[in-house]
Amino acid sequence: MSLGFPSSVRFLVKSLADFVYPPVCYGCDTEVEEGLVCEGCRLALFTHELAVCPRCGRPCTRTAETCGQCRTPFHLSRVRAVGTYAPPFDKLIHAFKYSGKTKVGELLGRALAALVQQDEVLLAADAVCPVPLHPARLRERGFNQSLLLAAAVSMTTGMPLVELLVRTRYTSTQALKAAPEDRLRNVQDAFRLRTDARVAGQRVLLVDDVMTTGHTLDQAARELLKGGAASVLGAVVAAAHAGGPS
Ligand SMILES: [Zn+2]
Ligand SMILES: [Zn+2]
Repeated sequence: MSLGFPSSVRFLVKSLADFVYPPVCYGCDTEVEEGLVCEGCRLALFTHELAVCPRCGRPCTRTAETCGQCRTPFHLSRVRAVGTYAPPFDKLIHAFKYSGKTKVGELLGRALAALVQQDEVLLAADAVCPVPLHPARLRERGFNQSLLLAAAVSMTTGMPLVELLVRTRYTSTQALKAAPEDRLRNVQDAFRLRTDARVAGQRVLLVDDVMTTGHTLDQAARELLKGGAASVLGAVVAAAHAGGPS
């Protein structure tokens, strides 16, 4: 955060802070010489070894055809995740989302873009669209993490970045801790198409930071399909194990 000090002062403050608190990896707290993450976490971000269910994007065993827990109907035809919602991904997302570490966000954006670029189906989408935040939540947080991630995907792949949806339902953080049934109710009809959205015949790639139960992505996709989208795909930084953190 810039407090309006000249850069020399900021540099001095940063050097002092580094001296007192040596830089640690944002993903696992290991001390690092420089940069945001250690080699291990960088490797986790840029090798996509995770097997995900081709129907709903949940992590699943490599040999299984699907995770066996797909929601039906699930409105996305394919979802990919960089990793599971576990270390280091949970820590990195937290640093980005709640501590406003935009540099960490840029790193996650690059990792997500690299994943999309390696996936022929996702790469064939016509446009990339972030899952929107409710305006009240946007005011609280100051930025939409999904928009920043989608912008990174757009920049790397050349896919146009489009904001097709608005979020009409405000979900309190309390509700986010609620039981799965309540969570479903909280995202039902949470989205509507923007009046100027042109989605007819489009293959839309939805981007979000985390997929937990999948309801949020599902509801957003349903709205896009209702608007005439040809198909909806998904890319997220982390997917939670079924029954994991919601
Ligand atoms: Zn690390
Ligand atoms: Zn599945």
